[in-house]
Amino acid sequence: MSSELSHALGAGGALSDVIPGFSPRQGQIEMALAIEKTLTDKSILIAEAGTGTGKTFAYLMPVIMGGGKAIVSTGTKHLQDQLFTKDLPTLVKAMKVSLKAVLLKGRANYLCLYRLEQAFQDSREIAPGDFRLLHELDDWRRQTDTGDRVEFTRMPEDHRLWARVTSTADNCLGQDCPRYSDCFVAKVRKAAQEADLLVINHHLFCADMALKEDGFGELLPVVDTIVIDEAHQLPEVATRFFGQVLSSRRLLEMSKDVIVESHQEAADMVDLFEATDLLPGAVLGLRQALGAAEQKAAWLPKISKKKIAVAVEQLQQRLDDLVAQLDIASVRSQGLQACYRRALQQSHLLKELQAPQDDRIHWYETSQKGFVVHSTPLEISNTFRSHLERFDAAWVFTSATLAVGKDFSHFSKRLGLDDAYSARWDSPFDYAQNSLALIPEGLPEPSHPDYIPTITALAEMLIKDCRGGVFFLFTSYRALQAAYHLLEGKTTRRLLVQGKATRQSLIEQFRNEGDAILLATTSFWEGVDVRGTALSCVIIEKLPFAAPGEPVLEARLSAMRQSGGNPFMEYQLPQAVIMLKQGVGRLIRDASDQGLLVLCDPRLRSKAYGKKFLASLPEMPITDDKDIAGYFLRSLKEYQAG
Ligand code: SF4
Repeated sequence: MSSELSHALGAGGALSDVIPGFSPRQGQIEMALAIEKTLTDKSILIAEAGTGTGKTFAYLMPVIMGGGKAIVSTGTKHLQDQLFTKDLPTLVKAMKVSLKAVLLKGRANYLCLYRLEQAFQDSREIAPGDFRLLHELDDWRRQTDTGDRVEFTRMPEDHRLWARVTSTADNCLGQDCPRYSDCFVAKVRKAAQEADLLVINHHLFCADMALKEDGFGELLPVVDTIVIDEAHQLPEVATRFFGQVLSSRRLLEMSKDVIVESHQEAADMVDLFEATDLLPGAVLGLRQALGAAEQKAAWLPKISKKKIAVAVEQLQQRLDDLVAQLDIASVRSQGLQACYRRALQQSHLLKELQAPQDDRIHWYETSQKGFVVHSTPLEISNTFRSHLERFDAAWVFTSATLAVGKDFSHFSKRLGLDDAYSARWDSPFDYAQNSLALIPEGLPEPSHPDYIPTITALAEMLIKDCRGGVFFLFTSYRALQAAYHLLEGKTTRRLLVQGKATRQSLIEQFRNEGDAILLATTSFWEGVDVRGTALSCVIIEKLPFAAPGEPVLEARLSAMRQSGGNPFMEYQLPQAVIMLKQGVGRLIRDASDQGLLVLCDPRLRSKAYGKKFLASLPEMPITDDKDIAGYFLRSLKEYQAG
């Protein structure tokens, strides 16, 4: 098949028939061939493909040619949609194949018939103004084939009623549900099982892999190939997933569901109502004991405080009382049985949180409305590996940012992929010709009070030289705010600031404006694609080391220290390198793109580890001269991306 594959991706091949202006890319062909071999050998490949390699087609083409069943998991719903609605149809057309492809979203995206019915039967929780919508939803559910809420546009995405009429892993009754035969979630999952190619996201993937939460555990065992795109995000998602969460929201939702179920099937059980009524008070008690301020901190030091220990004990008592009552009531209906399981699970978790284990990190966060206590595994490599070995499939992990220099060990160790093959393909874009990196001399250390004023003055100068748009990327909101106040009023250009509008809206405004300045923090370092002059300069405030004081990070570092490791070299540095690569990746988005990268942090030159960062950047010319950088910006040609 190799020659067929090379031909399809080469000049005059299938892709060139459907993509106007297509030109073959050597990296794409090589990557496709490496993936083809991985599928044949049923092995594991970790593949880094620089921006513009065309990695999506590089994996889709051999996967489709190879036949069999495949899953592609992407990092976000947006990428899932893009792959399903754009890339896949293009490829299917090019290859002239028929393919049963299914897009599977999380259950919160589909109407739950059981909960809709319940909302009608027990409408005390429905706001009076929402009844009309409820009836419209009822009309719509008779017409829709999918139950996918994107079809029901009359109700905004963030409307409170959605929570009432969609299911969660907690409250779904699964096969015991009286509406199971019509259930939209069950239907799409059945279609997913029968698909040749299934497009999911990392959350669903981890759920299914671990047979947990949202996972039906039905997808992975039957596939021949699993492709994880944006794989650099997988360790974090999997870590969260293999952890457990006790939250005020979950407890309160559960008590609401118990009331609805009890009114229908256990109206005579006075003790059950009493136990349910007492739970919210205990939840509130713990929230108050945790202090008014919103915070994120380690859990262990907290539970040794008397006030909190008492509130936890009180909550445990209330939960146990409810569990005892639900145990009796559970024979009356599937709904009450599901509530019993939920209460029992939360009760066990609360017990565990009072006697935490060494191999987990226990931490909590509070908001005005409530609290979440997390029990997060310190490391997931063994767990992930043991799940992976259950499946007789070929695995491809790919992303533009997986390696530190040429070394993949940071990524492979986190997921237990020590025996994986790895390969890199650099971006085919001409960075030497189209870009320049400025690492200015003489800046103060990032911890110096003059640092932000100095780099903001530099940014101001470069903005004047730049006809196109500028991304000013920060590692903290505080630094962003400081720079914003310094820049405000000093430029006539549109200043867009993270937090003042949604991410999507800011990106749209930035694109349309053509010469705007966007100040943003970490969520804009990746997944933003602005081509052409509209993004001509990316300024990076400092090296993106994770902020000290973050409880999960602190616990992880301390565990590494205790086991004789070097947390900086083994964890913090590689994480920061990957993140910097993501940030840098915003600049050059296609073959005609040009731009200036500004890396303000003087540690790139002054510290030995600076070399690790520099070795991971695309091969672009570097200057320390601001005037040369200014000249470079002034000489950029106008380029409107198509
Ligand atoms: S099976 Fe779950 S999602 Fe489907 S209708 Fe029943 S409760 Fe809702």
